[in-house]
Amino acid sequence: MTPPLFTLPAVLDATRGRAEGVAAEAINSISIDSRELGPDALFVAIKGDRFDGHDFVDTALANGAAAALVSEGRSAGPGRIHVADALDGLRDLGRAARARSRAFIVGVTGSVGKTTTKEALRTVFEAAGQTHASIKSFNNHWGVPLMLARMPENAQFGVFEMGMNAPEEIRPLSRMVRPHVAVITSIAPVHLEGLGSIEAIARAKAEIFDGLEPGGTAVINADHGQLQLLLDAAAAAGVANVITFGFARGVDWQILDPQTDASASSATILHGEESYKLGLAVPGRHMLSNATAALAVAHLAGIAPEVALRALAGLAAQPGRGERLRLGPDDKPLLVVNESYNANPVAVVAALSVFGQIEPAGGRKVLVLGDMLELGPQADQLHAGLADAVRDSGAERIYLVGPHMAALAAALPDAVMAGHFPSAAEAVNVIVDDLAYGDALMVKGSNGVGLSRLVSAITTRF
Ligand code: ATP
Ligand code: MG
Repeated sequence: MTPPLFTLPAVLDATRGRAEGVAAEAINSISIDSRELGPDALFVAIKGDRFDGHDFVDTALANGAAAALVSEGRSAGPGRIHVADALDGLRDLGRAARARSRAFIVGVTGSVGKTTTKEALRTVFEAAGQTHASIKSFNNHWGVPLMLARMPENAQFGVFEMGMNAPEEIRPLSRMVRPHVAVITSIAPVHLEGLGSIEAIARAKAEIFDGLEPGGTAVINADHGQLQLLLDAAAAAGVANVITFGFARGVDWQILDPQTDASASSATILHGEESYKLGLAVPGRHMLSNATAALAVAHLAGIAPEVALRALAGLAAQPGRGERLRLGPDDKPLLVVNESYNANPVAVVAALSVFGQIEPAGGRKVLVLGDMLELGPQADQLHAGLADAVRDSGAERIYLVGPHMAALAAALPDAVMAGHFPSAAEAVNVIVDDLAYGDALMVKGSNGVGLSRLVSAITTRF
């Protein structure tokens, strides 16, 4: 029988909590959302920007939660576990799950490619043993402790995504996760708003090295201008082993002869004297890069390359990150490439290069681009800077959504501009009405722009 996630005494011990009329002896899931409770759930009352979990404690208990972890003085009655601060309590549970774990632990950070690399690692580790990996992009000050606290005692592999908008966010997360391997997937101008410069971004990512276990390994992407800064930071943090990967020459895991078409990609991966054939059922150089990171980590975990390569061959696009929808008749479908989850200068260029290789089934190539958010004072310049990549993609009709896109609109020829809207709300119906079977459409924008609504509207109509 699998042991419970935590016994009640273990929860009280880890959190120094005080139980008030808690009947359950064990908890088997942890949730911060009263609508999404697993079996024998501990509901943790987190205070977010918009909601305070303490307002939902009664609902959670009524919905069947086994207990609720609450901040002292905020909520009273049976079923509560009182701690000084509920978020700190969640961190304590995360640390307790980590402390008892015998798993091989990997932390993943980077400007882009964190979730994709995390999912690649999940796929590889699942082929080798019991695997626990973060869900979605749960990578912030509450997401990481929540994911860590959910790690079962019997996990053999653990993979945790860590994100940030500002300095000193990754460091405490990494110290909590204490990875054996710390991966930096990429360094790019994303979250410039909170950081100011690309050097500051690299330094903030390098904070992950501080949490590495003694004897641990840093796995670093080399295809950017900040490699030396990262290597210096690793040395300063006393990192025992450093491994590099990427397209650059001389790296430890080099991607050679990359091939990518509209729907798949492949490359030869050179590692010392060995070379491996990497084949992916997803397109794009960026996917080859993320998969190579996973291959390097698998090697460190003692997983045979053949096992890792076979697992990677089955990797699928993540929701909203290059996922394909073929709607309508088989011989003349409306193809939708859903990239509505995320956008920043590198991610958009990566996605446009894939879009460039897509042939519509008789119709037009339509591109919908939404604002790239959180870019700070350089935002307009970075939006205008997409013009070449947009032109090279062969897009015939272009819709732009969001105020920042004005800068790109000005840089594109009028002939291809189909419309520029202030927000997704205004854009959805116009774009849906314009589409037809046979068209190939790519939708890309920052999640906050809300272009996922457009994708939903298209799937409803077609
Ligand atoms: P977030 O900060 O939102 O959690 P993330 O780092 O987890 O983002 P992913 O969700 O893996 O990133 O990928 C987001 C988008 O970035 C993808 O849709 C793709 O367009 C692009 N992308 C992914 N990996 C890379 C990479 N290695 N290099 C450049 N672009 C990439
Ligand atoms: Mg992510």
